[in-house]
Amino acid sequence: MPDLTHNLEAVQRRIALAAQAAGRDARSIALLAVSKTFPAEDVRAAYAAGQRAFGENYVQEAISKIEALADLRAALEWHFIGPLQSNKTRPVAENFDWVHSVDRLKIAQRLSEQRPDNLPPLNVCLQINISGEASKSGVSIPEAVEVARAIAALPKLNLRGLMAIPEPAGSIEEQRVPHRQLRELFERLRNDALELDTLSMGMSSDLEAAVLEGATIVRVGTAIFGARDYSH
Ligand SMILES: *Cc1c(COP(=O)(O)O)cnc(C)c1O
Repeated sequence: MPDLTHNLEAVQRRIALAAQAAGRDARSIALLAVSKTFPAEDVRAAYAAGQRAFGENYVQEAISKIEALADLRAALEWHFIGPLQSNKTRPVAENFDWVHSVDRLKIAQRLSEQRPDNLPPLNVCLQINISGEASKSGVSIPEAVEVARAIAALPKLNLRGLMAIPEPAGSIEEQRVPHRQLRELFERLRNDALELDTLSMGMSSDLEAAVLEGATIVRVGTAIFGARDYSH
């Protein structure tokens, strides 16, 4: 297992430096540790090192990890960040605190219907297809206002903001472009009377660009847990 205490500190230092460069308070940026493909023991070790919010991409894998860590459930925040098919929404609605990857109204409607009454509303972000490629999921910028309004009206969801996964880019200036587009859309929706407080953007390779453009949650996997192995 990598030295998670060291890695978490290094990522927090990157966030703090970028926040300082942006004139922002580093405490306004939350670190989501993306634990997909890593075992529950690694999540437990990251918890022991002080990390509380964890991101998962695959429903089955996530549910078994949440069950293995049931003793920590009240202390942890579980965020679903992966592609979500409509026939897999129920376990997500029942087990997670957040979903960042809501990419169509139908998914939001199902999550709202399936969210148990004894739980607080599910926090959600609308995923935006910021670079416009056909292959990526997410709502297009022109569709975003209408979809966001409809989601905000659902009873068991709390629409918190926007999420995007921009294409990898080389320089920090190039990386900033899609993050800036997402922030501009976020500001437009807020001017449109939607009460949003969350911009979920930035990963291991571009978190500085995301923080410079206003990210409030950065989703970091590799820089914390190491390279992922998809072979098994
Ligand atoms: C895997 C993943 C991440 C983390 O990516 P790293 O490059 O490992 O930091 C962040 N967001 C989403 C949606 C992911 O699927």
